[in-house]
Amino acid sequence: MNLLNLSGWALDQWEESPHDYRFTIKTLASYTSCPFCHSDTIDKHGILTPEFRDLPMHGKRVGLVVQRQRYRCPRCGHTFLDQVPGMDEHHRVTARLKMYVAEKVLSRPFTALAEEVGLDEKTVRVLFGEAVANWDAQRRVVTPEFLGIDEVVMGQPRCVLTNIREQTLLDLLPSRRYDRVATYLLHLSKPQAVRWVTMDMWRPYREAVRDALPQARIVVDKFHVIRMANAGLDGVRKQLRLSLSAKERKTLMHDRFLLLRRPHDLQPMEQVLVESWTRNLPLLGDAYQAKEAFFAIYEAPSQALAERAYQDWEKSLSKELEAFFSPLTTAMHNWHDEIFAYFDQPVTNAYTESANNLIRAMQRLGRGYSFEVLRAKMLYTAGVQKLETPRYGSEPFTAVMQDRMAHRLLQGMPTHQVRRDVTAIRPLGSDFAKLIAMLAPEHRIDPHSGKI
Ligand SMILES: [Zn+2]
Repeated sequence: MNLLNLSGWALDQWEESPHDYRFTIKTLASYTSCPFCHSDTIDKHGILTPEFRDLPMHGKRVGLVVQRQRYRCPRCGHTFLDQVPGMDEHHRVTARLKMYVAEKVLSRPFTALAEEVGLDEKTVRVLFGEAVANWDAQRRVVTPEFLGIDEVVMGQPRCVLTNIREQTLLDLLPSRRYDRVATYLLHLSKPQAVRWVTMDMWRPYREAVRDALPQARIVVDKFHVIRMANAGLDGVRKQLRLSLSAKERKTLMHDRFLLLRRPHDLQPMEQVLVESWTRNLPLLGDAYQAKEAFFAIYEAPSQALAERAYQDWEKSLSKELEAFFSPLTTAMHNWHDEIFAYFDQPVTNAYTESANNLIRAMQRLGRGYSFEVLRAKMLYTAGVQKLETPRYGSEPFTAVMQDRMAHRLLQGMPTHQVRRDVTAIRPLGSDFAKLIAMLAPEHRIDPHSGKI
């Protein structure tokens, strides 16, 4: 042990400059015999002096000049070097600096960190990538019964995997491609535990789930479907715009959100505005009715009634409206089973709302961070994980002696000891609420609605 607190090494000498320290060190375990033929006589064959970077100290950057003895075995002819315990030879950094960099990147930019430790930015990025790969390899998240697959646009669309019941983030994948998603699903710790999967209408997701999780049923969340009904109505509004005066156009643009909202969510004055638009523009009125009638399908008490209500709705569409609502009717056709599965297993609005809030927060932040850093931040920042509570009886019991128990009770001491075996308690993923608080600290979350 020495000033550097680096075990296995002896400190020879050190020097300093205004911003840096440089220590010369030597291993405590030099070779006395040949590691190849075990001969006791080995010759010293020159010294190498590579410099490694270590943790900053007293606000200064630290370099470690390693006096590395080179040997030659006269018997077998091999040459070899002293070992460098606790060092990453490839990047010329100490293992502890590597850890430090990986953790600090979660809260600081690469450039600032590179400057602080005295490495170039590229090396800091590489070290970070290696640390994340290591964390990923060790991570064992509990496989959810209700899996959510969403997407977030960060540079390009990325795949977001969630645990619906626990409201946690399981992982982010760099793309929404079939192979990426299927590979992830196949590597879940217990893929057969997944019973339901919710998703947006994206075919590669459906194919990946069918192939990797054949036992799971797919549900398209209501949110993704009804927004297509809103898009149909909005398409009509856009077309009618052309027939309006500049002033009317502006007012309609302003009022378009009222049209998209449900009538029961409107204030009396807003209702009057909606009525005047739908009365004066009959096609808009019809589209508004169609949108409302479509929303009503989701109030059906059973899958059979919902299917019947949908058939009636589709028949009731006028030729003119059909074109505007065709993306919706096409989706209803292509995703029939998955859309109507919703009536067997509705996804809660609370989940959808908080997942959407999280996705919005990620999207905003995504502009300032690289995908890899944001992902690592969301998965590995200390304290964001939600942990599993072991089921009663799932941990081994140990006998407590009758008299010891009585003794403790008399003394007013706790009669049990809670054992927190970290390795036994698995993570459930990163908590949505904690992530939103971390990513969008300037936004208050309403505790009732969960809205930012
Ligand atoms: Zn030898």
